[in-house]
Amino acid sequence: MKPIDIDLREPLLELVRRTSTVLAPDVVAVIERAAKTEPEGSAGWSALQTVLENITLARDKSAPICQDTGHIVFHVHFPFGYSQKMLTEQILDAVRTATAKTYLRPNAVDALTGKNSGDNTGAGFPMFYFHEWEKDELRFDLMLKGGGCENVGAQYRLPHVPLGAGRDLEGVRRVILDAIDKAQGYGCGPGIIGIGIGGNRGSGYLVSKEQLARKLDDVNPNPELAALEERILKEANELGIGPMGFGGKTTIMAVKIGSNHRVPACYFVSMSYACWADRRGSLHWKNGEVTYD
Ligand code: SF4
Repeated sequence: MKPIDIDLREPLLELVRRTSTVLAPDVVAVIERAAKTEPEGSAGWSALQTVLENITLARDKSAPICQDTGHIVFHVHFPFGYSQKMLTEQILDAVRTATAKTYLRPNAVDALTGKNSGDNTGAGFPMFYFHEWEKDELRFDLMLKGGGCENVGAQYRLPHVPLGAGRDLEGVRRVILDAIDKAQGYGCGPGIIGIGIGGNRGSGYLVSKEQLARKLDDVNPNPELAALEERILKEANELGIGPMGFGGKTTIMAVKIGSNHRVPACYFVSMSYACWADRRGSLHWKNGEVTYD
């Protein structure tokens, strides 16, 4: 099939439906584990029971996992010869249809007037990142990023004197624990922490968000970063903030760290927080075959 003939509007609609209504198995597994670690009857335990019921209901009824269906972010990997314009139009069609079918809440409002566009499209909405690759196949990665957890993201410029944070991994650890402590329950935890070290103010946040696409049980190929991920996870869960801020042992479900080169004058640490409704999904297309994960 020629690139121009491909029509992925139906599979893309299904990707949006799945991502909005079915939480990834690795996220569900960590929430289930967390529910077993909180004392039965505690507020944190009850919050997790409600979350688990919510996950089941959403999946069974094909309804959004949360009323805030989030900022829509697509990363598209494509081989040479495909039109980004054509792929963008098909994605926009799928998003509009998904909104009409109530898989998505109309969530795009004009930044100045507050007027809702009604179909989840608008200036920079959804967000698209296109990546040309060598493989003869397409992959669409979708993230629906909630607003509440987006509000508690943070960026630090090191050194940070009040926190005693220098330009090293110990400094990174200190500022991230500070950001998690400041977030308290406002990010709808237990959350997932994506961290970008380096870059500039824009690319640092982008790296932090890319970390949120990783599976929760993967292991960072950089041993130093892998050790830091584990340490921050352990120490964050000793803060006692707990699910939804009700107190308890599970404040954070995973910590994922990446880095970009930086200029000598800058050392940014950017943190993106994903709520328990960590909605991400992928569509693969190869030789006319569609698969999802
Ligand atoms: S932060 Fe997440 S769980 Fe909380 S309201 Fe927003 S999308 Fe829903």
